[in-house]
Amino acid sequence: MSTPDFSLAIHGGAGPVPRAEMTSVMEREYRVALANALDAGHAVLARGGPSLDAVEVAVRVLEDDPLFNAGRGSVFTWDGRNELDASIMDGPTRKAGAVTGLQHVRNPVSLARRVMDASPHVLLAGAGAEDFALEQRLELVPRSYFHTERRWRQLQQLQSGDAKSAANINYYGTVGAVARDAAGRLAAATSTGGTTGKRWGRVGDSPLIGAGTWADERVAVSATGDGEYFIRAAVAKDIAARIEYGRESLADAARAAMGAVGALGGEGGVITVDATGTVAFEFNSEGMFRAMRDSTGRETIAIYRD
Ligand code: ASP
Repeated sequence: MSTPDFSLAIHGGAGPVPRAEMTSVMEREYRVALANALDAGHAVLARGGPSLDAVEVAVRVLEDDPLFNAGRGSVFTWDGRNELDASIMDGPTRKAGAVTGLQHVRNPVSLARRVMDASPHVLLAGAGAEDFALEQRLELVPRSYFHTERRWRQLQQLQSGDAKSAANINYYGTVGAVARDAAGRLAAATSTGGTTGKRWGRVGDSPLIGAGTWADERVAVSATGDGEYFIRAAVAKDIAARIEYGRESLADAARAAMGAVGALGGEGGVITVDATGTVAFEFNSEGMFRAMRDSTGRETIAIYRD
């Protein structure tokens, strides 16, 4: 197998994806949406652009697509708000930016990028983060922009207290991207609306560097799943540490880290890329919306295990 000059992998969330509920029309829509995000990120890498730009642009495309639980299409808190989180990390410099509890920023990943590039901080929250977005002239939108009927219905279902319908709610849809560019630089980004019915103010793994997102000179990781477990297992940094200290292969490190999540009782998955441009996906849930493309022409778009 030839070594790629550059590679990109993305995810659109992991979780229960009951085959019976996934119509062929829906499946096609998801595949087209993932392909659109791949196209956007791949175009950056193909013209020699940085992995950081590629992951940001791929995540923006997914944030703008209401199919996914990030940006427009985000899930609702218990009291009916949308609170968005995102993060981004640059491997070679280990610079990172993250935001949490946003209610008006159209593309949270781009605000995370500004926090990284234009502030001395790593993580900004709530009103302070939105003030910074205003200063940085990022696009702000009314709260209604994030309201989608499908996610609203999921909240109603959860609040109806019917355990069966609650168990069938599709929580998935967080998005993320990892890339290696032609100069060998790695980057990762993640964006989410969190979990349906979360308490307002709740922060998951996605905006936490080392839990939901990580990039260094060896590996880039973006996670999705039950955030509380990913925080407790420090999943993204665990994968990096296994590779750095334990000399584990990318696939082994990802499998072991997800094993730790599973042992705690959590579900979800990760997308990873290493310095050779090798991509590995790992998940312990029924499905994970995922896709990859590299400079050798290899491409995968998949939902289920097969
Ligand atoms: N990890 C996200 C969170 O807990 C949710 C998800 O990935 O579906 O906020």
